[in-house]
Amino acid sequence: MFNFALEQLKNILTGDRKLNEDLKYSLLVSLLSIIHFFFSVFYSFLDIIPLVIYNLGSTIFYIFLRYVVTKKKRYFLVLNLMVMEVILFAGSSTLILGWDLGYMLYFMCLIPVIFYLLFTSPKYYGNLLLPLIYSIVICIIYIIIRISYLDCTPWYIGTIPNRLVSFMYVFNVFLACFFQTTSSFLFMVEIIHMQNALKAQNKVLDNLASLDPLTQLCNRRSMEPHLTHTLEVSRATGTPFSLILGDIDDFKHVNDTYGHEVGDKVLEKVAEILKNQMRDEDYVCRWGGEEFLLLIHANKEAAKAVGERIRSEVEHSIVTDGKYSLSVTMTFGVMDYAPGYSIEKLISLADENLYKGKQNGKNQVVA
Ligand code: GH3
Ligand code: MG
Ligand code: MG
Repeated sequence: MFNFALEQLKNILTGDRKLNEDLKYSLLVSLLSIIHFFFSVFYSFLDIIPLVIYNLGSTIFYIFLRYVVTKKKRYFLVLNLMVMEVILFAGSSTLILGWDLGYMLYFMCLIPVIFYLLFTSPKYYGNLLLPLIYSIVICIIYIIIRISYLDCTPWYIGTIPNRLVSFMYVFNVFLACFFQTTSSFLFMVEIIHMQNALKAQNKVLDNLASLDPLTQLCNRRSMEPHLTHTLEVSRATGTPFSLILGDIDDFKHVNDTYGHEVGDKVLEKVAEILKNQMRDEDYVCRWGGEEFLLLIHANKEAAKAVGERIRSEVEHSIVTDGKYSLSVTMTFGVMDYAPGYSIEKLISLADENLYKGKQNGKNQVVA
């Protein structure tokens, strides 16, 4: 039982288990019914009959609220009834026993509990006014009770020994602190989980925006910062770099002969080869339909060797699709950076080389 509770708590803290409204309200009303039962037993020993009756009534009331939570899911109604009960309990206990037992502390712990329950409620999430209204009303009732207390003598004042009054005060401080701390802590836990969920969502969106969905390579948009950064570094330090523009040969024919889906498989296969053949510091992206742009941190000769390696790998790999088995070839145009070139210029020069390769019979690397 203890291990199970510990496991549940761990799951809530790590975010594996969501503390939904059903669980939150069920735990809360169950706890309140236990507390009221404890109070009724406690006051029966002291022979304070009105509080025995009141607390027994409250115990039954919270058992009923548990039913409203689990069966009717009327969380907002339960919240209001609970707030009214706590006000009634703290107010009446104070007027019956006196201010010194600390029952009015429960008033104050209502505020963070309300903020927490409303903030984490899907229906009232983002409603800033509602918890503020509750806080103001609670504050006004507190003041009214304090003022009325000036003119009244608590019924049972003097019947409880001083030591017990101190004990009750400490007990009530502890319980009020427990509610305040727990609700604030859970508030914090839920905010952390929300932030983590948002971060994860942002990562997914970021991937969606920067990755080509078919090949999982960078897309044009996410390649651009790498290109400009490399250009700036090269301008400043003189480090060489080259661009390779690769294009699948007769790809239209592949689509027309085997269908678009096989064409997609070919694109995936080529992308896989490109990813495997690239060094970590180099970049590759799907530049357009069946065109790929490679950014190589090396001079033209070395980049040409990279192009040649990829070309040969593509030529010798086979794409299978149940029915069909085929291989494709690619043509590459290489160009290295020279002072004064812009990225656009470099790409257009690589494209010119690619065009030469296509004119020259395809399946080759032109530098
Ligand atoms: P070349 O050897 O001169 O490059 O000829 P090609 O047929 O490869 O070139 P062309 O530009 O005539 O055709 C490219 C084809 O690529 C046309 C287009 O339908 C196809 N394509 C572009 N994007 C995709 C895609 O995402 N999936 C598939 N299956 N085909 C695509
Ligand atoms: Mg093309
Ligand atoms: Mg092509």
